[in-house]
Amino acid sequence: MSASYLSIRDEISSRADALQRLTFPRCRLCPRRCGANRASGHRGDCMVADELPVSVGLLHFGEEPPISGSRGSGTIFFYGCPLGCVFCQNHQISRPVSTAPVLRHSMSVEELADLMLELQDKGAHNISWVTPTHVLHHAVRALGIAAEKGLEIAIVYNSGGYEELGALKLLDGLVDIYMPDVKWLTRENSMFCSGVPNYPFTVKRALEEMWRQVGPFVMNANGIGVRGLLVRHLVLPGGLSDTGMVLDLLEPYIRKGAAVSLMSQYYPPREGLAAPLNRHLTAEEYEPYLERLLDMDPEVAFIQELESQYSYRPDFDSDGVFHDV
Ligand code: SF4
Repeated sequence: MSASYLSIRDEISSRADALQRLTFPRCRLCPRRCGANRASGHRGDCMVADELPVSVGLLHFGEEPPISGSRGSGTIFFYGCPLGCVFCQNHQISRPVSTAPVLRHSMSVEELADLMLELQDKGAHNISWVTPTHVLHHAVRALGIAAEKGLEIAIVYNSGGYEELGALKLLDGLVDIYMPDVKWLTRENSMFCSGVPNYPFTVKRALEEMWRQVGPFVMNANGIGVRGLLVRHLVLPGGLSDTGMVLDLLEPYIRKGAAVSLMSQYYPPREGLAAPLNRHLTAEEYEPYLERLLDMDPEVAFIQELESQYSYRPDFDSDGVFHDV
């Protein structure tokens, strides 16, 4: 969010009002358009009614280097998710895939604004909203309050790429860095992994809009991201992530300066997942795509050692501190 927005906080409030209208009387804030009457307390497919559930907010050092930097990314994990992948890699904080308890704390918009300011005071390079899609009306309202009180660091929008175009357009000028996933591009894999048929169409449209708003990924002299598009893709076992098609889609963006993160860290989050989600990725399934990406000569790219998949187990201690153990 640029400093100029401090003078147009009424504009932010009107954007929040417009987003709120997308939730009423039947919610269509995300591409599921499930129609839940959230104001009456009904939970939608995202598992959230009209509350603002935050799983945790902290300085996070495990993101890509231009996002975490040396002082951490002020990361706010929202509970719930419109997509609901069966293998959610963040299920402890997003939505339950087992009987394990999920962290959540319902906040007011004022409390969320204060949390963002607190993270800024602790030195965060940015505020990163993780999976904000289904609570966007509240998050933007909180942003207006925080801006009025002096929030001035970059806003990072970190999501699964499953975004309603009308909602995204209302973020124009408020988000500095978009960090969406592109998860898969076939209806078949989308249904198998998340039960939604329209992800491929939706994510392509969302990418176009995000690119229109922020363009190439730009870093400051210290290597900290200040603006632009950074796309993530998690390679899944058994070809479930359509990685060849995803790289075809991303190539024009990469050649124009979008950053990309090709991840190999998939792990089966629970027992009983259907094959091939019940196993890790192999080198044969990752390395050809890595070579293909490097052939595109990206300006900014992040890759992972395959071994990282065996060490990535996000977990929280009793204080809500995030560990990559
Ligand atoms: S945001 Fe939630 S309630 Fe609204 S349409 Fe999406 S899944 Fe349904």
